Amino acid sequence: MKTKRTGFAFLKRLLIGGHYRASVALHAARSKVWHGALKLLDLGHVCNVCDHRSLRFDSDEWHLYSICPVCQCQVRHRLFWAAVNMVPAVHLEKILQDKRVLHFSPYYHVSRKLRKIASLYTTADYLAGAYDFGNIELDLDISNMPEIASGSYDALLAFDVLEHVKDHFKALDEIHRVLAPGGYCILIVPQQDHLEKTMEDPSITDPRIREKLYGRADHLRMYGLDFKEMIEQRGFEVTVIDETFFTTDTLRKHILFPLVLSDNPIATNYRKVYFGRKTDM
Ligand SMILES: [Zn+2]
Repeated sequence: MKTKRTGFAFLKRLLIGGHYRASVALHAARSKVWHGALKLLDLGHVCNVCDHRSLRFDSDEWHLYSICPVCQCQVRHRLFWAAVNMVPAVHLEKILQDKRVLHFSPYYHVSRKLRKIASLYTTADYLAGAYDFGNIELDLDISNMPEIASGSYDALLAFDVLEHVKDHFKALDEIHRVLAPGGYCILIVPQQDHLEKTMEDPSITDPRIREKLYGRADHLRMYGLDFKEMIEQRGFEVTVIDETFFTTDTLRKHILFPLVLSDNPIATNYRKVYFGRKTDM
């Protein structure tokens, strides 16, 4: 009896397993044909981070059709990757390839690419244990990094990090210190569209008010266009890359600029990537 039931279970597993494998293979084949047809006709949008092509990207409550359905990257990640691949002044061969790179709060799919091209690649985040980034090597406070020797990196990346940091000027000084002369910081921050001056009021500690003013309860300020001067004041020569550096076709193909502007008054539609070259010692 026992043998019979085991045999039946084995047969059932074999059939179900076979059916499952066949359906996965069929799905993969369909997906490949669909992807190939879109590519042949040059239709849809292409994520320049993971190469996925799709007629429509995913949305969140702030931004419509701007999130890659496969790797989940957002406009800022694709804008950065387009900048270092298409803009000669900040090309990755010049500022990242074979360089020592320190990457804060790294986005996994961009991180994988950088690890392949850097001579030394280190990931970091503050209170890393509290977050599930999975690939963080150093638990670092970007505004106080005694663990990192001066001049020991050629590039430091921090996307959407500084708005969480209490003393962001001290952070810029620390970024400057750990970079070698001629090294680059690559920074992105949430910015209210067309806001001239950064809004910050340290007396506001209520998370609900912070969320209303700055977009999230753990954001300490809303950056304006003066962010460029802030970086320049700390000893960097700054190049700002935004949507104006790319053709309309490229912007649309890779969704480097929102297809639909967010109607949230504090959303960042006009993302900018700040490349700061350390000019003094
Ligand atoms: Zn993607």
